[in-house]
Amino acid sequence: MQYSGFKVFLEGLRGNKGWTPAWREPDPKSEYDVIIIGAGGHGLSTAYYLTKVFGVKNVAVLEKGWLGSGNIGRNTTIIRSNYMLPGNELFYEFSLKLWEGLEQDFNYNAMISQRSILNLFHSDSQRDVFVRRANAMILAGADAELADEEQLRRELPFLDFYNARFPIKGGLYQRRGGTVRHDAVAWGYARGADRNGVDIIQNCEVTGFHIENGICKGVQTIKGAIGGKKVAVCVAGSSGRVMAMAGMRLPIESHVLQAFVSEGLKPTLPGVITFGAGHFYVSQSDKGGLVFGGDLDGYNSYAQRGNLPVVEDVAEGGMAIMPMIGRARLLRSWGGIMDMSMDGSPFIDKTDIKGLYFNGGWCYGGFKATPASGYCYAHLLAKDEPHPVATEMRLDRFKRGHLIDEKGQGNQPNLH
Ligand SMILES: Cc1cc2nc3c(=O)[nH]c(=O)nc-3n(C[C@H](O)[C@H](O)[C@H](O)COP(=O)(O)OP(=O)(O)OC[C@H]3O[C@@H](n4cnc5c(N)ncnc54)[C@H](O)[C@@H]3O)c2cc1C
Repeated sequence: MQYSGFKVFLEGLRGNKGWTPAWREPDPKSEYDVIIIGAGGHGLSTAYYLTKVFGVKNVAVLEKGWLGSGNIGRNTTIIRSNYMLPGNELFYEFSLKLWEGLEQDFNYNAMISQRSILNLFHSDSQRDVFVRRANAMILAGADAELADEEQLRRELPFLDFYNARFPIKGGLYQRRGGTVRHDAVAWGYARGADRNGVDIIQNCEVTGFHIENGICKGVQTIKGAIGGKKVAVCVAGSSGRVMAMAGMRLPIESHVLQAFVSEGLKPTLPGVITFGAGHFYVSQSDKGGLVFGGDLDGYNSYAQRGNLPVVEDVAEGGMAIMPMIGRARLLRSWGGIMDMSMDGSPFIDKTDIKGLYFNGGWCYGGFKATPASGYCYAHLLAKDEPHPVATEMRLDRFKRGHLIDEKGQGNQPNLH
C-alpha cells in the first residue's frame, strides 16, 4: 500500500477500514542469500538498500525481540554530520544527505526536522578547535557556521551567559542537523524492506552460527536452523555477545547510556544544543518535552537501565547552561546499551570467517548513521567491497595503527 494525502483523505471517509498491516509476519524459510541479525535501524536499513539498490532478493532479518526494541527506539533522535576526520565526516555527510530524501524514498513520515544543532564553546582555545572542525566539515561538503556570543545572546536568551565557570563564548552551528522521530525510522525501513520481499522475523533470537572449515553457512535460532550464503551481524549493544558465538573478540565494550524527557513545555528550544564544557545535550520534541542526555554510566553492562549518579551528573550539566531546566519536571528516563569501540568510531567490515560480516561500534552516534550504515553495509554484502565513504571502518584498523580517533581520547571507550 502506497501512503499519500489522498489515501488518508479516502480512509477518513471510509472509517479507516482499508489500512493493511505495514509488514508481514512470515515464518522463516530454510535458506536465504543474506541473513541479517538484528532488526534495529541498521539491520532494517541494510535490508531495505540491499533489496532496493543492490537487487539482492532472498533476504531475512532476524530479531530476538520485537522490531525496534533496541536502541533505534531508545535514542535522543539527533542527526548531524559535524565530524572532523575524513574517515568519519564523508560517511556522516553521506548519511545526512540520505536523511534529507528519506521520507519520499521509503514513503513514510519520519518527522525529519532539520532544526539545527549548536555546539557551544566556552574558551578561546575551544573556539579554535571548533573552527578547525567547521573548516573540515565545509571541505567535505557539509554546512557549518560559527556564532559569536552576541548572536547567541540574541537567539537563545535563556542560556546562562553569566556562568563564571563555563562562560559561553559562542557556538558552532550545523543548520542541517536536527531531529527525527526514531521509531518511525524503524517502521519506515521495515515497511520498505517488507514491500521489497524481505522476511522480517521477530521473536527469533540467534543462538549460534553454523561455521564449517572457516565458512559461515547459517545460524541457529530459537525457531530452528536457517541457512544463509551470507550472514550480516548488526546487533549494536549486543555485538560482543553475538560475535563471541562465532569465537570472535571485538575491540568493543558495552556501556549503558540514559535518556531523559521532561513534561511538555511551550516551544522554547529552536534546535539541538550541546554543552561544550561537560556532557549534556538537549532538544525539544514536537510534543513539547525537553529531550536530553549526557554521559555514559561508566562501567560495562548489558542492563538496559541506568543509575542515579548519572542522573545527577546530567542534571548538573543542564543547570550549568540553562538553569531554567531546573523548574521542569522529569517525566521519564530509560537506558540503552552502547557498543563503544576503542576509538569511538564504527565498523562495517568482513570478518576472517568467510560469509560472516560485522556492523557495530556505533557508540553514542549510530542513529544519525542509520541510512548510510545500511547503504554501506548493503554495498559490502552485495559487492564484497567497502563503499567509498566507509573504507576506513575496518576491524583491523587497530592492528594497522589507523585509528579514527575523532575526540583524541585514545583507547578509552568510556570517554568517547
Ligand atoms: C539513550 C541513547 C541516546 C542516543 N542518542 C543518539 C542520538 O541522539 N543520535 C545518534 O546518532 N545516536 C544516538 N544513540 C545511539 C543509537 O541509538 C545507536 O547507535 C543505534 O540505534 C544502534 O543501531 P541499531 O539501531 O541497529 O541498534 P538496535 O536498535 O539496538 O538494534 C540491534 C537489534 O539487535 C537485536 N539483537 C541483539 N541480539 C540478537 C540476537 N542474538 N538475535 C537476534 N537479534 C538480536 C536487538 O534486539 C536489537 O533490536 C543513542 C543511544 C541511546 C541508548
